Amino acid sequence: MIPRMMRLRRRDLVCQQAVELVTDYLEGTLRRSARRRFEAHLAGCPHCTEYLAQVRATIELAGRITPDDLTPQMRDEFIDLYRRWRSEGD
Ligand SMILES: [Zn+2]
Repeated sequence: MIPRMMRLRRRDLVCQQAVELVTDYLEGTLRRSARRRFEAHLAGCPHCTEYLAQVRATIELAGRITPDDLTPQMRDEFIDLYRRWRSEGD
């Protein structure tokens, strides 16, 4: 679910897509082409790299992957954080 207040620019949409792929990536269910694009995005995006690290750490703490419970909250937190990074940068 995407918050209504989000007004993402084109560049941000790529991050949005990457964020949505994180769980599939960690579960190993991404197709090879999607996985490659995801990793390529991570290589140039510290924000999504940080998000992936956060999700990974949470999964390690929980001992299992619970995308339905975990992802929406993590995603919202990430998006909030990311917006703050952006506004600080500008
Ligand atoms: Zn990104």
